[in-house]
Amino acid sequence: MPENTLVTFPAGELTAETTIRLTVPVGDRHGIVCATTPFHPIDHTWPDQPADQGTLTVGGQALAVEDCVIGAAPRDGSAPISTGDDIEVRRDDPDWNWYVVHVVAADPGAVTGERAGLEVDPVWRHGLSAGHTMCELVGLALNRELAGRWTKPVKDDALGHPDFDKLAITRSRIQPTGSVDHYRLGKSLRRKGFSADRLATELPELEAGINAVMERWVAEDATVGVETEGPGVDAMRTFYCELSDGAVRVPCGGTHVTRTGEIGFTQVSLSLSDDGSELRMEAARQLP
Ligand SMILES: [Zn+2]
Repeated sequence: MPENTLVTFPAGELTAETTIRLTVPVGDRHGIVCATTPFHPIDHTWPDQPADQGTLTVGGQALAVEDCVIGAAPRDGSAPISTGDDIEVRRDDPDWNWYVVHVVAADPGAVTGERAGLEVDPVWRHGLSAGHTMCELVGLALNRELAGRWTKPVKDDALGHPDFDKLAITRSRIQPTGSVDHYRLGKSLRRKGFSADRLATELPELEAGINAVMERWVAEDATVGVETEGPGVDAMRTFYCELSDGAVRVPCGGTHVTRTGEIGFTQVSLSLSDDGSELRMEAARQLP
């Protein structure tokens, strides 16, 4: 089995010249694994950021990369490569090889060993990066606004506020124009010391607080980036942002912009489910 795919998206790369290492069926489509890729795959274990799109050119033929998923195969060759949700081991198991699988509709034929050119759609990528940076920051802004609702000490976020976002989040979806996060306000959160009393009536106040913080963070145009512990797709990666309120560092496998100013104007709206058990935060970006 080939070594782990080397990834260049953490540094913001969009193109690569590389070698095709293997092909694998992905449903009724075709997966292509290269030695190196700038493509960011969707993470099946936490599918917040959609996969990059773009083209893979081999033998003069430009194939549309419709999707990009993670593939894995045991290092000892005891099983074939599996992809996405079919991967049965814990993410980044060191006894397995980890790959980025470019999914194309047309059968590329026997291309293993061929040279290939990879090109990520720059507009789609930039939108997702801005959406992801915004999503990280609105989570921190939400923590800040909810800080007074905690009656017991819990783990703090990078800016020193109780980490509601981490403790309660159940689902996060990022798009170029915004993000939607779902939070569970259940018994276990209450037991940890979170009070949801009068939350429904205070939502407009919370929204205004989050929007004001976001306006400030976007205006200060703080440095943003991704650090990675290694060159492979399996490496731990960290999102960082040098806000005037503090330096933020959180584990994150996604892509990000380089300055908070690239996010643009952000408008957050909060809503509660009818039974009050779920808080939904929708953040919309007005494209700058
Ligand atoms: Zn993230």
